[in-house]
Amino acid sequence: MDQKKIGSFVTALRKEKGLTQKELAERLFISDKTVSKWETGKGIPDVSLIIPLCELLGITANELLSGERLEDTRYRQRAEEHIIALIKEKQESKRNILLSCIAAVISILPSTALILLSGLLEMTTALRISLIVIAILTMASGIFIAAVLDMKSGTFECRHCKTRFVPTAGAYIAGPHSLTTRYLKCPACGKKSYCKRRLTH
Ligand SMILES: [Zn+2]
Repeated sequence: MDQKKIGSFVTALRKEKGLTQKELAERLFISDKTVSKWETGKGIPDVSLIIPLCELLGITANELLSGERLEDTRYRQRAEEHIIALIKEKQESKRNILLSCIAAVISILPSTALILLSGLLEMTTALRISLIVIAILTMASGIFIAAVLDMKSGTFECRHCKTRFVPTAGAYIAGPHSLTTRYLKCPACGKKSYCKRRLTH
């Protein structure tokens, strides 16, 4: 999907309707920063906003995602392309999450075993320290790989303005989290919240 094209299309239609970004945002119960983000091609509307937005702009969801008005003949073809693109993105996200879990498990298991061995077996202090260092390095690299893969799988959604974004590595690692949420600062509205993980952009 061409975000820039979708953005200019939204701008043109909004102006046609004589609405400012703020007025359009108010009608959708979102912030004007979110509308500005769409229009500059930095994001596309959340799935839950697509239908109300299209109603306001007088277009179909298929036209919105194509970034242009469509004639009947091209209509079906484009609709199928959009569905395929959305499914692909979701599958890639799921694959990354799975790889991330695998990376975490294969690094944590041997590290734990090494630490246990170094505590249980008779050995010199130097050997014991080396084993612990190797264990910590293995675990750290596994966790790093897991974090990068996890970060790449989809986006996080702000609880306040529903903007979806990919956090910076620093913010991602520092943010407290559960399995499905992470405490992050939203780049659109600047508020901090437990953002929900989403599988699509
Ligand atoms: Zn926000």
